[in-house]
Amino acid sequence: MPQLSTLPTAAELDRQVHRLYAVARRARTIAGILAHPQATGDGVTYASARIPRALSAARRLLALPGVADHEETPYALSFLKEAEHQLNAPSTKLLRLAAAARQAAARADDADDDLRVVVFQHIEGRCRFLIDAATVAPVLGRRGWTDREHQASDALQQQAARWGLTDDADDVRPTPPTVPAYLSQQAAERAAARARCAAGIRCTEPTCLAYGAVKVTYLGDSWLCADCIKATNTQLEAEGRAPETIRPVPGGTPERGRYTVTLYNAIGKGARSVKCSTPQRAQFIAETVRPFNNTGYTIHATAPAAN
Ligand SMILES: [Zn+2]
Repeated sequence: MPQLSTLPTAAELDRQVHRLYAVARRARTIAGILAHPQATGDGVTYASARIPRALSAARRLLALPGVADHEETPYALSFLKEAEHQLNAPSTKLLRLAAAARQAAARADDADDDLRVVVFQHIEGRCRFLIDAATVAPVLGRRGWTDREHQASDALQQQAARWGLTDDADDVRPTPPTVPAYLSQQAAERAAARARCAAGIRCTEPTCLAYGAVKVTYLGDSWLCADCIKATNTQLEAEGRAPETIRPVPGGTPERGRYTVTLYNAIGKGARSVKCSTPQRAQFIAETVRPFNNTGYTIHATAPAAN
């Protein structure tokens, strides 16, 4: 009975082609991370490690007798080719650069280095803009770059190397390269905001907006400066309330508290929260992080947990 003796081989072959197909589909899914302009550094690292592994697993399966010639194999191969192409695409290189720039900006922020924060955020933004141009895609998720975009990508990588963002460059150079005027202007504005916010959180009275406001009793969402506390109490007393209805909350503006700055879109949907541990930092975030064209903010504080 020759048919019975060949059956297990055919079933085995089917299983191997099935495995190949599964590996290929997985590779294609992971490669999708690299087609996303907002991919995180972790996502890029993950995809960069996993796709080569999937490709070698596929090569091992293809080397088994009969797998390469199976009628469903070309389909799996097209997925693998797509994943490999994405892994080596120029836009993927920029994605790695964007992740490095984001990390470097965070380090510069910790060091209060406003020029580097501005430059690194600019580089990250340019990277993601170009990645977006490479991946908004009518066909097969990709349309590729024009010559101009290729040149822009090269220029961006040279700029990144001058700032120590590429693998072969030093981490931080003592003398920063010269930057366009609009970037040094942004850095100066950021430094000015940092200096203003050294006085603390801004009074929420729209007619006042003085820095150095505190959390108060009675008006839970407000931050008020000493003058506004006085003025509001006078007003409340005139309306028949007890004197000193509003008082600073004891320990309401702790130096080591937990501050949550909620940045919201003042004319549309969307909000984002950033946490920090000083009132100065909270106000600085409120004034310098602008996720929307019309960003509004609220600051919420909780005292540090008692140990
Ligand atoms: Zn005030």
